[in-house]
Amino acid sequence: MDARHSQGGGAPSRALPPDTPTRLLIGGEWTDGAAGAEIDVIDPYNGAVLTRIAEAREEDVDRAVEAAKKAFPKWAALAAHERGRLLLKLADRIEEEGEALTRLEALDTGHPIRDCRNLDLPRTVMSFRYFGGMADKFEGSLVPVDAGFLNYVQREPIGVVGQIVPWNFPLMFTAWKLGPALAAGNTVVMKPSELTPLTTLRVAELALEAGIPPGVINVLPGYGATAGARVASHPEIGKVAFTGSTATGRKVVEASAGNLKKLQLELGGKGANIVFEDANIDAAVGGSAFAIFHNQGQACIAGSRIMLHEAIADEFLDKFLKLAKSIRLGDPLDPATEMGPLTSKTHFDRVMSYIGVAKGEGAEVLAGGAGPEDDALRDGYFVRPTVVRAKPTDRVCQEEVFGPFAAVMTFKDEAEALSIANATRYGLGSGLWTRDLSRAHRVAKGLHAGMVWINCYKRAHPGSPFGGVGESGYGREMGFDVMREYTQAKSVWVNVDAQIPPFYQR
Ligand code: NAD
Repeated sequence: MDARHSQGGGAPSRALPPDTPTRLLIGGEWTDGAAGAEIDVIDPYNGAVLTRIAEAREEDVDRAVEAAKKAFPKWAALAAHERGRLLLKLADRIEEEGEALTRLEALDTGHPIRDCRNLDLPRTVMSFRYFGGMADKFEGSLVPVDAGFLNYVQREPIGVVGQIVPWNFPLMFTAWKLGPALAAGNTVVMKPSELTPLTTLRVAELALEAGIPPGVINVLPGYGATAGARVASHPEIGKVAFTGSTATGRKVVEASAGNLKKLQLELGGKGANIVFEDANIDAAVGGSAFAIFHNQGQACIAGSRIMLHEAIADEFLDKFLKLAKSIRLGDPLDPATEMGPLTSKTHFDRVMSYIGVAKGEGAEVLAGGAGPEDDALRDGYFVRPTVVRAKPTDRVCQEEVFGPFAAVMTFKDEAEALSIANATRYGLGSGLWTRDLSRAHRVAKGLHAGMVWINCYKRAHPGSPFGGVGESGYGREMGFDVMREYTQAKSVWVNVDAQIPPFYQR
């Protein structure tokens, strides 16, 4: 049997709490969209409608920008430690509501609840805490300029920022985006993905409860072509932070040209995960499975290309395929489930189409390559953990599949490994497994990537810069880097000695 259906004790309820927020949040008010339209939110486990949410269109974005503009002066003028205190309070509220939030995330996205509890929720809380603490630690500077002059640099908030978020980690990305933007004193118009808006709306509700003033956070679920495009082009939004595909990122760049918005783009990836001949194979097998199968492979930093030194390829694959075939698919709400469904039917069809693409280019399917065996899972968007042997130039080694789909290939030496690893248009995250310290750092240096993991994979922390190079985007989330992204420098000159300039003296 390829993959086991997890054995829960009775089917868990899938009903949402009746007070789950489903409207737009504009200026602290829950409101319908101006067009009165709604979007079905689907449970990817069974294709059923979980709830319906209000759909934001262009004029709703305009209203939200007005509300964010109105809220900005007071929020920006608040002492930084006060903004920080409110973010810390929000982190506490999220932690208190943790169990309900993880359930909501699991229902909306299909993430196994086990992962929501172990990763999505703690990372969300940690991000708000980190940026709550950051609010009054992020400083300007004093520049040593010419004698008699003082030059200090203030970091000022931008104003109204737009944030466009994808569906793969909605809860966590809400924290990654809101935390630094608010700590820096901006107000926000956030557009979550139309597919997975529920936890973002709930976090915004908790933010109001925590005392973050109305209008500081506005949330507008809606489609990319309407609400998203309006956020990208709005003349009074000073910056857009976008996470999503490279193709959409390009559209955001074009749409932002009107008012020359500051942009931060976190786009796609095609992570190279290189296993050298001296690696701890068991650690590499487990780490590589996490790299590609966690969250059903729906991660920009997924290790989707597994590159094996030819001396250990057979041993690695033997263990890796056994592990892949043993991953428990099942109901995301069942704590025993290790892999849930993909988040949408459209995405399921896309991932499945890549199995045909791989076969068409002569790839050999070593595991998976199909939907679930278990009839109980047939209504959900499940794809079995899939492993194919492919050539570095194949489409499945060049294009982002964004599913539980690993392409494996072999290499002879370090130089070949680097040349294969760097031969895509992306450059987000890559990893390597070796016991040779010198090689580890040498290869890390040679990888065309914004992030490199040595003997681990997909590590992230709110203090460590997160982002890509090449067509994986530009700008960085996290740490002091992201605080610079959400502020602009104002350089102030003071003529301390009251010097009269030497020019035009009479
Ligand atoms: P997507 O590009 O289709 O959508 C992302 C967001 O953009 C959604 O909210 C969508 O509604 C919106 N959007 C769509 N068209 C738009 C337009 N014309 N103008 C403005 N907004 C628009 O991506 P997705 O399918 O939701 O997410 C998967 C992609 O996101 C993958 O490519 C993945 O690699 C990438 N991603 C990147 C990172 C990172 O940090 N680099 C993290 C997670 C996901």
